[in-house]
Amino acid sequence: MMKKRCSVCGKEIDAVNEGYVKILDNFLQIKYFDTDEENCFCSNECMAKSLSAETVYEEE
Ligand SMILES: [Zn+2]
Repeated sequence: MMKKRCSVCGKEIDAVNEGYVKILDNFLQIKYFDTDEENCFCSNECMAKSLSAETVYEEE
């Protein structure tokens, strides 16, 4: 079993059966992540947290 770890929450991930979220964009891979291990998330939520992406609400 291939084990990985979410770089945000630290959760252990079974990379073979569960799969994981990885940024495939080449620009981000080069500019944002120092190592391939950092580009590993258990969920879209953790991925968004890592990139400081969240839902914002504007005033009408
Ligand atoms: Zn996570």
